[in-house]
Amino acid sequence: MADADRLIICEHCDAVYQPVELRAHEKASCVRCHAIIQRHNSLGIEQRLALSVTAAVLWAFANVYPIMSIRLQGLSNSATLWDSIVALSQGPITFIALVAAVAIIVAPAFQLALLLWVLGYAHGHRRAPGFALCMRSLETLRPWSMLEVCLLGALVAVIKLAGLLDVLPGIGLFALAALSLLIIRIAGRDVRDLWGHP
Ligand SMILES: [Zn+2]
Repeated sequence: MADADRLIICEHCDAVYQPVELRAHEKASCVRCHAIIQRHNSLGIEQRLALSVTAAVLWAFANVYPIMSIRLQGLSNSATLWDSIVALSQGPITFIALVAAVAIIVAPAFQLALLLWVLGYAHGHRRAPGFALCMRSLETLRPWSMLEVCLLGALVAVIKLAGLLDVLPGIGLFALAALSLLIIRIAGRDVRDLWGHP
């Protein structure tokens, strides 16, 4: 009987497999539905921890520095992520401000805090206190974290407004772009392999 701890299940058709050792650029797919069930992860714990620290710094930059500044006839204005949430909350769609705050500020912050906690302990070859809860929370938070949607929106706004006003992308926008790529890399489904560690 295979060790039940180590079995993996295809998310799409519930077929159960023994995990295999994959080499670089290899992936395993389900024989029944052809969905990808395992990918080689080239990042070690130390690298993931370093990327998580980098992402936390980028998160701070994205929240402190303006996403963009606009200028028109000598008047200038700039907005941070938080300013955009506040602006939304004062309009007729206050509820959307709450959803946006969760999707672009709160969920990524929790993801990063949980990753730093879990990976910090994993780096010392120990399991973090509350490990199972942290891992389940990471799975729950993933669909709520929508930095890439926000990034796309900000880019569309910059390009559209550029025709009418002087628009300067801010440091926050560059930090947001780097952060959304990093989050996809470090908080994706790959975090699941931490269950088997150490
Ligand atoms: Zn399948």
